[in-house]
Amino acid sequence: MAKTFKYLILGGGVAAGYAAWEFARQGLEPGELAIISKEAVAPYERTALSKFYLDPELPNRLPTLYVFPRREILLPEWYSEKGIELILSTEIVKADLAAKSLTSAGGETFSYQILLIATGLTVIRLSDLGVQGADAKNIFYFREIDDADKLYEAIKAKKNGKAVVVGGGYISMELSARLRCNNLDVTMVYPEPWCMSRLFTSDIAAFNEGYYAKKGVNIMKRTVVVGFTANSDGEVKEVKLKDGRVLEADIVVVGDGLRPQTALFKGQVEEEKGGIKTDGFFKTSVPNVYAVGDVATFPVKLYNELRRVEYYEHACLSARKAVEAIIAAEEGKTVEEYDYLPLFYSHAFEQPWCFIGDNVGDTVLFGDSSPESSFPKFGSYWIKDGKVVGAFLQGRIDEERDAMEYVARVRPSVQNVDELAREGFSFARKI
Ligand code: FAD
Repeated sequence: MAKTFKYLILGGGVAAGYAAWEFARQGLEPGELAIISKEAVAPYERTALSKFYLDPELPNRLPTLYVFPRREILLPEWYSEKGIELILSTEIVKADLAAKSLTSAGGETFSYQILLIATGLTVIRLSDLGVQGADAKNIFYFREIDDADKLYEAIKAKKNGKAVVVGGGYISMELSARLRCNNLDVTMVYPEPWCMSRLFTSDIAAFNEGYYAKKGVNIMKRTVVVGFTANSDGEVKEVKLKDGRVLEADIVVVGDGLRPQTALFKGQVEEEKGGIKTDGFFKTSVPNVYAVGDVATFPVKLYNELRRVEYYEHACLSARKAVEAIIAAEEGKTVEEYDYLPLFYSHAFEQPWCFIGDNVGDTVLFGDSSPESSFPKFGSYWIKDGKVVGAFLQGRIDEERDAMEYVARVRPSVQNVDELAREGFSFARKI
């Protein structure tokens, strides 16, 4: 017999937690909502995994989810108090959207009136790409709490050992910083000419790479990992690079390489740009099926185009918007369409940074971007068609963040780029 729910959320990540919170806020009867997750824990702050979760002194212990703007903390008990069923350690292996039914690996079936797909991303394994020796022990991937726990144990077991981090994206950067704080000898390897190359300009990257070097992280760019060797216990021992170099390693972490988890729905729902296509209320092409968070490709009104983003804030906001739209539709009301301003942040060593808006066009750098400074603080604007369309800030950024958000949203004209560089943060403050 299928277990039946009025609302079913597939996925137990950030978007699921926020959606549950919004359902509860709108008024929910006990037993109406369930979350199905293959993870063993309630939704939690996934972003913390590569940050405070691996802190050598005071590791932040999950699962907790901090819900803004009300700063409420969702613990596992919160779901039972609200009558929300958490169906954990349950992987869905079959979805029949026409029949409104999901089937788990254990053979249970679940049916629903309304489904919210919040399955996020999954890692691409080097073994799937045919990299030789990639199934050795102590090669880790990093997406879920289970991955973080395994890495945490390895860090303890391989005290003062050598770690190689594969990839130059933000997760690789955060993990490299954390491994270094745990006293490992860390080398990052990536093929691009600089770190975070899809977002960072060469100037922003120069600061970050310089800062990482100062902290003792080795960086090897413009090369890729082609294989691994293992010791007699099957544990990784060496990392082989395409340029012929060989690195010793006790731990390898693959920080990059993710794809949206859409496989369950192939051929049943419209897809676009690798994700599940939605409208501005996160409705998919199938009636009563919504998609939110990293897996959704949705219209960004501000830029008049469909995008899929892998950002925390969007996971929260999209989940809340979808639930508002679901409840409004039930009550015969309407809600405003999603009006998203891209915002992404990261934090490694003691350096927070944040990007807001669009990274297209020319750029200007301003502020103190020397890795040798005691308190570096700098930013960059992106300028397209004479307007400021995006902003990046690094260092102690709390004071300027609102002003930068405003700039990225209103996209003010700029007459003189040299003047803009001189004004820097004060340009945003006076808009
Ligand atoms: P997720 O949070 O990934 O949740 C997906 C859930 O679906 C998981 O619980 C998964 O197990 C479950 N699931 C998938 N398929 C199935 C299935 N078939 N059956 C059952 N369950 C399933 N963003 C930022 O903006 N700033 C940051 O600093 C930042 N740091 C990050 C650090 C790390 C280590 C990671 C991994 C991500 C980080 N992000 C950051 C990105 C951010 O966490 C994501 O954008 C956000 O988690 C997306 O939420 P989601 O609910 O869409 O997906």
